[in-house]
Amino acid sequence: MKRVFLYVRVSTEEQAVHGLSIEAQTAALENWAQANQCKVVGIYTDAGISARKPASKRPALQRLLAGVRAREGDLILFTKLDRWFRNISEYYKVQEVLERYHVSWKTIQEDYDTTTASGRLKVNIMLSVAQDEADRTGERIQFIFQDKVQRGEVISGKVPLGYKIENKKMVIDPATAPIARDIFQQYLALRSVRGVREYLIKTYHLTYAPTSLRLLLTNPRYIGHAHGQENFCPALIPKEQFEKCRDSISFRGQRNIVHSPNIYLFTGLLRCAECGNRLSAHVVSGQYIYYRCTKYEKYHQCTHKKRTSELALEKWLIENLVACYERYNLSLIEQAQRPAPKVDTENLRRKMKKLQDLYLNDLIEREDYEKEYSLLRDQLREASTPAPKLPSPVDIEEIKNMLAAYRQLNRKEQKEFWGRLVGEITITNDEHFFVFPFSHK
Ligand SMILES: [Zn+2]
Repeated sequence: MKRVFLYVRVSTEEQAVHGLSIEAQTAALENWAQANQCKVVGIYTDAGISARKPASKRPALQRLLAGVRAREGDLILFTKLDRWFRNISEYYKVQEVLERYHVSWKTIQEDYDTTTASGRLKVNIMLSVAQDEADRTGERIQFIFQDKVQRGEVISGKVPLGYKIENKKMVIDPATAPIARDIFQQYLALRSVRGVREYLIKTYHLTYAPTSLRLLLTNPRYIGHAHGQENFCPALIPKEQFEKCRDSISFRGQRNIVHSPNIYLFTGLLRCAECGNRLSAHVVSGQYIYYRCTKYEKYHQCTHKKRTSELALEKWLIENLVACYERYNLSLIEQAQRPAPKVDTENLRRKMKKLQDLYLNDLIEREDYEKEYSLLRDQLREASTPAPKLPSPVDIEEIKNMLAAYRQLNRKEQKEFWGRLVGEITITNDEHFFVFPFSHK
């Protein structure tokens, strides 16, 4: 029978969040242990402690590690990785101890496998997912890949239809270029993306989603443009023809937006906790609005399957926003009292260099590289800039007054209302809502 340590952690601002409470975590862990015939040797609870706090500042974790050293158990259970750590270096410090005593860990609500290299990388990435990750990707690519771009070298292995890669550069692929040219011609003749789609299926047995076709028809690489350079690659489509297509498509797109009768209250405010992407609104049965992670829906690259109902979220916010912001104000005070951590900047620089070598030698994927790299870069930046001024606290009285008037607003005004009161809401797959005020951005 496996002997397990249960580890529970909740930060001050999380105590109010449904399902994250100490009781909820403990119950979930105990149920799991029982269902899997494990013997619980101890329950270790760090209350009011943020995930960024180092191991040394978490009393329960220290007791747990003493238990590990005394060889009292074989496995540590927690509900999610973010209960354990959100910081790579702290994670590895503790991991070293666990490995020395052959103790492993398991999250009962997420799936990790630390016995494989790709499993370990996933852990690294999950530890480093920053909230504004997705937004800054474009900027980061510019920054990291400037050199490559200047040499006209491709950055990813993916090129649009009609091109191939030769010696790291994009060249015209004689096998597929005629199809790409045909797509542009057909579009100008039919002026319909769906028409082109059917044509491609019939003529070439090629299936394209309408969105992909739209992207293809507006991809500036076809006239040689990329990464801010005019002659990044050879042009496949005459400029005039390309511009005609692009203008026609963007005109049609605009028309759709203007006539869209739906107003989604939370568009642009919701973020997936698992991958950092924005959640997008969808209408089900013509009347119910749901928000979901596009990265999961479209590409299955995210574990966020949950669809969040707009109605439920709206109700939850009306009931909980004041409490959320009170917690938030408290956490600001807590943060202001916390001393700044000491960081080994030389070590960070060495790690960045190492990571770059891995990427350049094709040993890791670009996406993983970017995430890791940006994390290190952010740590470096954080270490070399003076502590940022904390955002200002939320005016709770004002929020209360505004909420009291909410039901009198029409839908358009309600949308504006949330845009003013909320900066961002991060939603996890088990529907925990983390609300950040506007001042937090
Ligand atoms: Zn996601």
